[in-house]
Amino acid sequence: MESRFAPNDLDASKWENIEPFLNSLKQRRINSTNCIEDLIRDESQLSEIVSETRAKAYINMTSQTDNQEYQKAWRDFVENIQPKLSEYNDIINKKIINNDFVENLPERYDIMIKGIKSDIKIFREENIPLQTRLSILSTKYNEIRGKQTVFFEGEEKTLPMMAIYQESNDREIRESAWRATTSRILKDEEEISNIFEEMIKLRNQIAINSGFSGFQEYMFAAMHRFDYSIDDCLEFHDSIEYSCMPLKHQMNDLRKEKLELDKLRPWDTSVDIDGKKPLKPFFDADELINGCSRIFHSMSKELGDFFDLLKENNCLDLESRKGKAPGGYQYYLQKSRMPFIFMNATGTQRNLETMIHEAGHAFHSFYSGHLDLISERDAPIEFAEVASMSMELLTHPYWEEFYEKEDAERARIKHLKGIIQFMPWMATIDSFQNWIYKNPNHTRSERVEKWLEIQEIFGSKIDYDGINKEGENLEKIIEISWQLQGHLFGAPFYYVEYGIAQLGALQLWKFHKENNINALRLYKNGLSLGYTKGLTELFAASGLKMSFSKDHVSKLIREVSDQLQDVSTN
Ligand SMILES: [Zn+2]
Repeated sequence: MESRFAPNDLDASKWENIEPFLNSLKQRRINSTNCIEDLIRDESQLSEIVSETRAKAYINMTSQTDNQEYQKAWRDFVENIQPKLSEYNDIINKKIINNDFVENLPERYDIMIKGIKSDIKIFREENIPLQTRLSILSTKYNEIRGKQTVFFEGEEKTLPMMAIYQESNDREIRESAWRATTSRILKDEEEISNIFEEMIKLRNQIAINSGFSGFQEYMFAAMHRFDYSIDDCLEFHDSIEYSCMPLKHQMNDLRKEKLELDKLRPWDTSVDIDGKKPLKPFFDADELINGCSRIFHSMSKELGDFFDLLKENNCLDLESRKGKAPGGYQYYLQKSRMPFIFMNATGTQRNLETMIHEAGHAFHSFYSGHLDLISERDAPIEFAEVASMSMELLTHPYWEEFYEKEDAERARIKHLKGIIQFMPWMATIDSFQNWIYKNPNHTRSERVEKWLEIQEIFGSKIDYDGINKEGENLEKIIEISWQLQGHLFGAPFYYVEYGIAQLGALQLWKFHKENNINALRLYKNGLSLGYTKGLTELFAASGLKMSFSKDHVSKLIREVSDQLQDVSTN
């Protein structure tokens, strides 16, 4: 058996425990390609342990934003360990690259070396404190959002809990829920704007320090976006405007007509247009887990068994509760080789989709778990989201596990319509960020103007006219609704990935409708490669084409609208 460089029980929450191992790596002599391979392997093994410590601190921090001890442990990691780690990381990166033997490394390391070269290019020591400050600001944003609760119908409710009322068939309830939620959100508007503005300054400075013209270009290098450019993203936005916007407007016109409204208000966008009760796929987390387990077992024994492992190993934290950070994520525990899923379930159809989505990420982790190195078990985000978003579509035929036939059909329609609605939102966020960081010195009013201008292209035609009651300024929400998109704070530029991945997911869905076994084989083919291949090659390994052209995007969106047509004429 191969001996391990760092002991498995190393407590990586303390810097003094990690440092000696990093020093030993730093002092290695590189006399051959073997030496480089040993260095890479040992560093990877240490990284597994550190990564898992970080994961656990993150999970604790998000699961109880009101637990001071957890908040402190997370801050400690972010402020005291992460900065020193990135310093060492750069030193070791340079050790791997700056020697005579790196050219002779086997092909297996090509992708990794490409990434390391990009990391070296962007790394500057003076950026470390700036990045630390950004992490702190991002945590602050989460804290503010986590504390947002509303007193409604005699109880204190979280915002995810409040979202359910938007599906109520009683328009008055929808309206008062919307008013309560919106005025609560607006209370923090100023503080969040301040956080964002400080972030923009810091990010711009980081980019300048690293020799880039702006944060956009910096992030393309930082996120290892080697297979597409900023211009490709702009082409993608145009393709979305062309293919999705007519459908989106049609859908909203139909909504207004069916609900017999003279004005479509912000509280009319989620309710069922045929006056049916909101979809209620499950009541508690157990029901959600058991239903999903049955679905994945129906698809394949392998996927079913993967999913059951999550439950057996206590890797699911699903129910919404006060103090829990918003959103959902899958975090792979690199040492244990187990995925962990976090979400805020309250019993909605959207929650079911999130559960399936995160399960897709977990399958990716399982499928790439056999790979040796931590960097190989990673994946480019654009492809990681294919794993999760395609799973949402591939499970369509099995949603009867949660519904009677008629409701399952409604849920599928809702999900498909959601895709058509989402692509313009993705383009909105991506265009907004492109503009924000291209114009880092903009004023608040210029930002509002730009946001409204983008909404004009990609938004829904919602009527806010005369919406304010006495003393209210709820209309302001239109100007600051970007604040609800957490990615802008915690993961800048991480958004176009969802659009790129959706294009992959729609192709896999088409394959699955034609031949489900073959589609799952293609799914596994790509996922099992982890990050041992580049983005375009990973797409290809799953039989997927990567293109942002009008032609390609329209063809895939037509697949969705045809299916919607099919369902509604049945
Ligand atoms: Zn995802």
